[in-house]
Amino acid sequence: AKERLRKQYSGTPTRKDESGKSYAVNPELNKKVSLWAGNITHLEIDAIVNAANSRLLGGGGVDGAIHAAAGPALKAECATLNGCVVGDAKITGGYLLPAKHVIHTVGPQDGNGNHLESCYKTCLRLLTKHHLRSVAFPCISTGIYGFPPEGAAHIALRTVREFLEKNPQSVDRVIFCLFLPTDLNIYENLMQVYFPVE
Ligand code: ADP
Repeated sequence: AKERLRKQYSGTPTRKDESGKSYAVNPELNKKVSLWAGNITHLEIDAIVNAANSRLLGGGGVDGAIHAAAGPALKAECATLNGCVVGDAKITGGYLLPAKHVIHTVGPQDGNGNHLESCYKTCLRLLTKHHLRSVAFPCISTGIYGFPPEGAAHIALRTVREFLEKNPQSVDRVIFCLFLPTDLNIYENLMQVYFPVE
């Protein structure tokens, strides 16, 4: 009971995920993961992820920004892909972007966490299948598609942590691209849970 009390009142921040699990300190994993505040179209990296819609023909939000920056050749390649279902992903060139590739994924519009997890997993699998080593994710589904940002951040960070643990040689760098200050704040807090230091 004394031990429990000490834990309860020690003032250390919580290190638990949504299911009560805590994650071991792992400096090798931590080196690969970073937060970056800004516009994903500016990143020079192997692949950026697009939060697309199922037709893959462009849209608003990050999708609009990526197509505007990549130029019309991106839309032309997307038009050959036959769309994409929720939770899945398809890869294209990056065209006029500094990123070499775009991985287009379709997030859920109904708050389905399993589908959101599938987006992150499928993007990472596609990345490694194409022998690419670095990727940047936007906050998939949290804009027009309305997924609650904090719940989405738990899923994003947990899925990346689990993928990197299971595939330690596969990826050199994962960047979470935070466009909104509110998302930066959420991710800064949750990094303590999924990629603890100390
Ligand atoms: P969805 O339809 O999947 O919700 P949105 O594009 O509406 O996709 O929003 C997803 C996230 O992308 C939101 O956090 C939004 O603020 C962010 N976002 C919008 N433009 C950009 C950009 N240029 N770079 C990075 N993130 C962006």
